[in-house]
Amino acid sequence: MFNVLDFFSDALEKGHMSHSYLISGSEDLVMAKTIASKILCRQEHTGCGSCSSCLKLASNNHPDLMVIEPDGASIKNAQVEEFQSFIFIRPFESQHKVVIIKEAHLMTERAQNRILKVLEEPPEYAIFIFLTCHMESMLETVLSRCQVISSEAKCAFETSLEVLEKTVELVNGIATRDPGRVLEFGSYFKQEKAQVTTLLSSLMSILRDVMIFRETNNYQLISRENLTILNYKDHLYKWTSQISRKKAIALITLIEEVDQRLKSNMNFDLTVDKLLFKCIEREA
Ligand SMILES: [Zn+2]
Repeated sequence: MFNVLDFFSDALEKGHMSHSYLISGSEDLVMAKTIASKILCRQEHTGCGSCSSCLKLASNNHPDLMVIEPDGASIKNAQVEEFQSFIFIRPFESQHKVVIIKEAHLMTERAQNRILKVLEEPPEYAIFIFLTCHMESMLETVLSRCQVISSEAKCAFETSLEVLEKTVELVNGIATRDPGRVLEFGSYFKQEKAQVTTLLSSLMSILRDVMIFRETNNYQLISRENLTILNYKDHLYKWTSQISRKKAIALITLIEEVDQRLKSNMNFDLTVDKLLFKCIEREA
């Protein structure tokens, strides 16, 4: 599988860096900062974590790194002006200066044209990293100046759809009290730790829908977001007869507890397993 970080490590090692990169399909600022830490690191671009550059970066205090994020709904001209005064001053700490532009598609056309001017004749030490999930909204002229890297990481929207589908699978397992189907989520959770909180909140939302729908038989009262799930009304109708009120309440209570524990970094595996066993537990 293509790995963006490996790509940059390799390019740095071989000294084959371009001035501007566009990472499509990701808005992952942590990843972009990790790339920046390698570019700026004074220990052979390893991102050693202990040189003066890495330390400054870790404390969000690096004079040669600038991160631009949308101010409200767009990246405004004033932000690009600030960037211009940053980029034309030579680096202080490292050999390079790095500019990360998150949600780059939110640059106004005017802002993009201003950045284009710099991309056309960048200072030799400058490296730009654009992050976007909507390459189609960027000016062709800007794109043509970038090396485009497609990331495996998914954008928030795609992830949430995928998580909703996963949640439906889990609810089906709970509804049919199918141990195989439910317990396999143990390994899913352990692999996709970042998704667990999102999945738990959609699970909670679906269980609430089950309870509300049973009481009211009214589709108007259920979650609009859940309605984007394929055949959700049919699912809900079926789940209402399969998942008792008592079970739904017990699970909702437990999910809240699990969520708290996960936030306080309590034993992850144990916490998840406890929840999954509760999902298939027979009712007294
Ligand atoms: Zn370092």
